[in-house]
Amino acid sequence: MRVLITGAAGFLGSHLCDRFIGEGHEVVGMDNLITGNPDNVAHLFGHERFRFIRHDVTEFIHVEGHLDGVLHFASPASPVDYLELPIQTLKVGSLGTHKTLGVAKAKQARYLLASTSEVYGDPQVHPQPETYWGNVNPVGPRGVYDEAKRFAEAMTMAYHRAHGVDTRIARIFNSYGPRMRPADGRVVSNFIVQALRGEPLTVYGDGSQTRSFCYVDDMVEGIYHLFFSDRVEPVNVGNPDEFSVKELAEVVLEETGSESRVEYRRLPVDDPRVRRPDIGVAGRELGWEPKIVLREGLRKTIPYFRRLVEERNARARTL
Ligand code: UDP
Repeated sequence: MRVLITGAAGFLGSHLCDRFIGEGHEVVGMDNLITGNPDNVAHLFGHERFRFIRHDVTEFIHVEGHLDGVLHFASPASPVDYLELPIQTLKVGSLGTHKTLGVAKAKQARYLLASTSEVYGDPQVHPQPETYWGNVNPVGPRGVYDEAKRFAEAMTMAYHRAHGVDTRIARIFNSYGPRMRPADGRVVSNFIVQALRGEPLTVYGDGSQTRSFCYVDDMVEGIYHLFFSDRVEPVNVGNPDEFSVKELAEVVLEETGSESRVEYRRLPVDDPRVRRPDIGVAGRELGWEPKIVLREGLRKTIPYFRRLVEERNARARTL
């Protein structure tokens, strides 16, 4: 297959490129690099089945040749990023989804949208099944991401129903692993980097809010299965093991062997109280479930951040 992956230089996008290349497919990776990092795909440059195009997908997209798949993974994806880039976040979720669906339609390619657990907002149903319609504040600071992704899902279904595009929607829950940016702002990367630097771990609020963390290899496996399945309706992809943020801080301190302390900060506006995927549909329809527990995933992730922190320290010493 020949597939277009947008957000190819991002965290999930780059792992997805690796997966498709590893399975023998051809990949056109696209990214405007506003939050993506070319280092994430540098190992693929020069590969005969990989091509990288620097392009903003909110503008008209031109890809030469046929395509069998379009996977739309471009978007700022951490609350810190989408608060800094609110308009780009809205545009990539709306205009970018429209443009990428247009490519899929023109090329008669299968389409997969990277949607999000944020479509459930601050959920009043727990855990969240795909049938839950969510509780989102459209005008709050997170609304730019949540509403763009909700629009993106609606647009994807409209292209399916009106134009017969063969579509898939992955509702992606919190994920972590190598290639997240150290300054990404998400909780797992923040805590690991803070622990490795001996800085305080910044727990927002009282740390009783919960999240369920999925290691990137499990996540990519789930997305890959979904792409090759027949399921058009949205599917939750995530790990249902739920932790409070305070528990996560303790596990990160243990796994890094850090003596950092925990420092409490103000809770961001509209921060969801709880989040946990119901993955019954993924199990039944995709035959998929995550395998890597949090501690194991952290053990695979910490060395990546340790290397980055050490490289930065070494550079600082030579200056
Ligand atoms: N969080 C925290 N400290 C940090 C970063 C995040 O306590 O340094 C909290 C945040 O308030 C939220 C949870 O961790 O309750 C997950 O945040 P993240 O930004 O990773 O993603 P979200 O699930 O909120 O989109």
